[in-house]
Amino acid sequence: MSADRDRVSALVDELLDTHDPSTTTPAEFWGAQFDLGLAWVQFPVGFGGLGVAPALQEVVAERLDAASVPRNDLINFVGLGTAAPAIVGFGSDEHKRRYLRPLFTCDEVWCQLFSEPNAGSDLGNLGTSAVRDGDEWVVNGHKVWTTLAHVSSYGILVARTHPELPKHRGLTFFLVDMRTPGVEVRPLRQISGEAEFNEVLFTDARIPDSMRVGEPGEGWRVTIGALMHERSHNADLAKRPRGMGPVAHAVRLWQDMGMTDPARRDELMRIWIEAEVIRLTSIRAEQLRKSGTPGPEGSTGKLATGILPQRVFEFCMSLLGPAGMVISDYEMRQPDRMFEGNMGDGTENIEIVKAFLNSRSATIGGGTTEIQKNTMAERVLGLPKELRPDRDVPWSSDSAPVR
Ligand SMILES: Cc1cc2nc3c(=O)[nH]c(=O)nc-3n(C[C@H](O)[C@H](O)[C@H](O)COP(=O)(O)OP(=O)(O)OC[C@H]3O[C@@H](n4cnc5c(N)ncnc54)[C@H](O)[C@@H]3O)c2cc1C
Repeated sequence: MSADRDRVSALVDELLDTHDPSTTTPAEFWGAQFDLGLAWVQFPVGFGGLGVAPALQEVVAERLDAASVPRNDLINFVGLGTAAPAIVGFGSDEHKRRYLRPLFTCDEVWCQLFSEPNAGSDLGNLGTSAVRDGDEWVVNGHKVWTTLAHVSSYGILVARTHPELPKHRGLTFFLVDMRTPGVEVRPLRQISGEAEFNEVLFTDARIPDSMRVGEPGEGWRVTIGALMHERSHNADLAKRPRGMGPVAHAVRLWQDMGMTDPARRDELMRIWIEAEVIRLTSIRAEQLRKSGTPGPEGSTGKLATGILPQRVFEFCMSLLGPAGMVISDYEMRQPDRMFEGNMGDGTENIEIVKAFLNSRSATIGGGTTEIQKNTMAERVLGLPKELRPDRDVPWSSDSAPVR
């Protein structure tokens, strides 16, 4: 491990020596980072990694943060957090060669085509169909809440290929070129007025079989593998330096408004301490993971990082008083990156009122708080499992739940 750490450190030296972040374009820098194997150090050599322990990515992240290298995760959150691990874990070498580098440089942004009007928490119930026709699959269906689909070149799609099997067993995972005829992206406007996400309609869209990831019917395994990575990626965002993350906005607002009220200061301190506990718990979870004995701390990451921004921005709104009722504008815009306030490093300039509105989604996206609690109840506390009457029933049968 220590030899690997030295090797990673030496490669970061080389990266920073040859690509000064202040004069290199972000895409060029990220490309060089990928080529040196510092994109995801645990991935195989040649595919953005070095084949070493994932914990060593921390060495890269710390050094690049200190050198003010721009972050690519808000531009290509799904690409980095979900599509790349699915491609590396289950894709062909051709998939890895073709898609990973432009994904990491953000030349190709990715979106996640999982949720549907009747399949969110119960994702296994999804109904978008893919029917084999020679070397292609013909896809029909309706996806929703597809973040950044309007700027995406590619998407990861789960579709039902075997309706006669029980719901989780009849799914298949695909990569989709978003420019395929029959793929239509329509904006969905959210509470802040902007449309960061979309609905995506598939009408006889033809996907080549070469874009299938995993075997037909193996889609659930690939999806869960990819989502597990998304959850830990989300939780990683809690590991910011002390006092950064969403809570930094509350501290800055407190200072800017020249607040002195001791009761309000107590409130701010309570939130700050909560943020610090989440940060430390996240570090402990990471250390336990590294030692090979992951503990329950890991499961709390997504839960806590969802609730915290809501607490922070509710507090900010209470400081703003009547000013919190005024929003700068309610234009329908389609941003080209994810909203930073809920998970950024606290240094960016954000509009508190919009951040407050957007923070409502933090306990829904990537799995709701209720579902996280169910998972913890069952897997961590060992409480009785939820009833799942449709688990072994063919998805298409009349006795399956109403969709
Ligand atoms: C900002 C944002 C971005 C998103 N981006 C994407 C994306 O890019 N791609 C994508 O595919 N999806 C995306 N989603 C969708 C997201 O994954 C779903 O919204 C989420 O899984 C919840 O599903 P749902 O909205 O259908 O709610 P439902 O599943 O219908 O849930 C409704 C309510 O019922 C509760 N509930 C449901 N089942 C249970 C249960 N068994 N026990 C207790 N309570 C339960 C839920 O907690 C929730 O409060 C995004 C969502 C948001 C908010």
